[in-house]
Amino acid sequence: MLIDRFGRIITNLRIAITMKCNLNCIYCHREGQKESKKENKTEMSVEEISKIAKAFKELGIKKVKITGGEPLLRRDVCDIISSMPDFKEISMTTNGIYLSKLAWDLKDSGLDRVNVSLDSLRRDVYKYITRGGDVNKVIDGIATACDAKLTPIKVNMVILKGLNDDQVSEMMEFISNMNSESIKTILQVIEILKLPGLEKYYKDITNLEKEIASKAEAVILRGMHFRRQYKIGNVVVEFIKPVNNREFCMHCNRIRVTSDGKVKPCLMRDEGIKVVGLEGKELINAIKKAVNLREPYY
Ligand code: SAM
Repeated sequence: MLIDRFGRIITNLRIAITMKCNLNCIYCHREGQKESKKENKTEMSVEEISKIAKAFKELGIKKVKITGGEPLLRRDVCDIISSMPDFKEISMTTNGIYLSKLAWDLKDSGLDRVNVSLDSLRRDVYKYITRGGDVNKVIDGIATACDAKLTPIKVNMVILKGLNDDQVSEMMEFISNMNSESIKTILQVIEILKLPGLEKYYKDITNLEKEIASKAEAVILRGMHFRRQYKIGNVVVEFIKPVNNREFCMHCNRIRVTSDGKVKPCLMRDEGIKVVGLEGKELINAIKKAVNLREPYY
């Protein structure tokens, strides 16, 4: 089992498999990897990713999420999934642009479910936020992922002041229509991380959460980051509010691997321990060393 110095048990792993992306979102944190560093262009092979995932599994990790950049840009993405050890859940976060093409193959490779980033249903707003993306491709991708049973799908909506902060109800309606029989899709309302340059988009989502909470028939408190889910009719809305939130950090059970093979203890911190190329005891010890560096950001 992996436990850090603050008693937090690490159960979730997030592996970036590329830094390349086919969109260029105005607010992207790039999973905490710096854009300009040369080594970010280096990608791990399927074998390297699999070896690292197996070491984490041996150490007690239960769930893995594949991320990027855009993970669906890697031609060997299905090989990466099928090379994973037997985790309780293998999921992916994607912008959804290639999902309608790949959803069935991903399911056949062993992917359990997807998170799809969709900040607005409005063509022009989506295009502006993503710097050129076509929202219809994402909507088609979500529909195919539903058919392929990559469910529950989580739609990730990052709230951006003045751009989409008035659009939560229309996103809920979109999800409600998709969920007509059962809950296949959950809305995740995400507070933007206040990174340098992003202050102009920052909006505290406390009031949004209060508004949804006042209408909820049921509330579920999740272990992960102490997040709350609210059920209204056939829609579940989850709030992710990391900024200045000590509870969020106190209940963080996640660790990351960067696309160039470093274990990154926290999204918000620059440190990382290189694990690519290591084997056996050396690999296990390097992972434990990275876990020891974990410290709550807030
Ligand atoms: N391309 C994939 C995608 O779109 O899901 C994976 C990478 S993307 C960096 C992963 C998630 O991080 C997306 O849901 C995105 O909205 C979220 N994200 C990116 N920058 C963020 C920020 N500054 N604050 C909060 N969430 C952010």
